[in-house]
Amino acid sequence: MIKEILLCKYGEIVLKGANRKYFEDMLCREMKKRARAYGNFDIYRAQSTIYIEPADDFADLDGMFHAASKVFGIVAIARAAVCEKNMESISETVRAYVPKFLEGKKTFKVEGKRSDKTFPLDSMEISREIGGVVLESCPRIRVDVHHPDVTVKIEIREFGAYVSAGQFKGAGGMPIGSNGKALLLLSGGIDSPVAGYMMAKRGVRLDAIHFESFPYTSERAREKVLELAGEVAEYAGDIYVHVVSLTHIQEELVKACEEDYFTLLLRRYMMTIAERVAREKECLGLITGESLGQVASQTIQALGVTDNAVSMPVFRPCIGMDKEEIISIARRIGTFETSIQPYEDCCTVFTPKHPKTKPVLEKVKAEENKLDFEALVEEAMGTLYTVHIKAEY
Ligand code: ATP
Ligand code: MG
Repeated sequence: MIKEILLCKYGEIVLKGANRKYFEDMLCREMKKRARAYGNFDIYRAQSTIYIEPADDFADLDGMFHAASKVFGIVAIARAAVCEKNMESISETVRAYVPKFLEGKKTFKVEGKRSDKTFPLDSMEISREIGGVVLESCPRIRVDVHHPDVTVKIEIREFGAYVSAGQFKGAGGMPIGSNGKALLLLSGGIDSPVAGYMMAKRGVRLDAIHFESFPYTSERAREKVLELAGEVAEYAGDIYVHVVSLTHIQEELVKACEEDYFTLLLRRYMMTIAERVAREKECLGLITGESLGQVASQTIQALGVTDNAVSMPVFRPCIGMDKEEIISIARRIGTFETSIQPYEDCCTVFTPKHPKTKPVLEKVKAEENKLDFEALVEEAMGTLYTVHIKAEY
């Protein structure tokens, strides 16, 4: 019986000096948390690798593989067969385990790696000998050391020898929580879930804020946003979504202010409210899905006017991306199909026909001062309620 395990490699990115152990523990904890849904596993780490070993016959290694592929901080994942640290056992395992990975493939190479230096053969010798074993058991395959279809790896490590054939890309980035927490302005669109994903990838834990505008926006629109939060949570972990009503603010804006400024003024309200929530929830910055030039409120001038409303960092990871690039990420992470469901957003009600694309701050402030900004912000803060989105891995 072959025993299969997962080897998750975290490579060099997270190995920064004194933080190393902190990152490693964080990653291990994250894996253990995700493993709970898939049965009993022994999870431990050594040599820049997290080992995920089924503890009984019921553990679902395929499910765990899928879950592990969404863990930020992991650069590569391999399924590997475990065997004893001697060439006989390794050869036998290669004969039994490797052929199914080579089906339909033309070329391979063997990469031996001996991190246990007491092993009698060196890496080159291991590669050569096992190369012979593979050729015997798969008669049609050829060796190609430069561009092989499959790389068979033999790793002689601390706890045993591991045989793998092909490894998969991990989610990359840094472990969730290793870079603080920030508040994502989450709409039902394509861009903001991607923005959240990208910051989470760099280790930022997410809270989210969603603005709604009953009865101009629907129950279904909010459900869509919560669904998106759930999809981002598969990578980012649990997300608290804070929902705030902008209905009254929008109605007052329409009554009092010049139409061309509606969107900009609304965005300043959003940012102000978001900043207050962020400070309450101990978030260190705001995240939006804005992309330069995509719409009128996303010119440099408009973004300047928006930023002027707050005094904490605003992260816009989509700022330099084309829509196509944002969409391809949305597809890959699984938010696209949800995002394109057609429900209204509060930004799309009361939109001006000729929004200002080169707003001047003084003029915007003059419009803003026609209303009691502080009172409206306070009132909106009073509508806040929070939904805890639990990550399903
Ligand atoms: P998205 O695709 O993310 O909706 P967008 O291109 O439609 O973005 P806008 O609608 O102008 O652009 O919104 C810009 C950003 O403002 C969004 O990416 C999001 O971060 C934030 N935002 C917009 N509407 C809301 C909302 N109802 N609740 C929370 N944040 C919002
Ligand atoms: Mg939008």
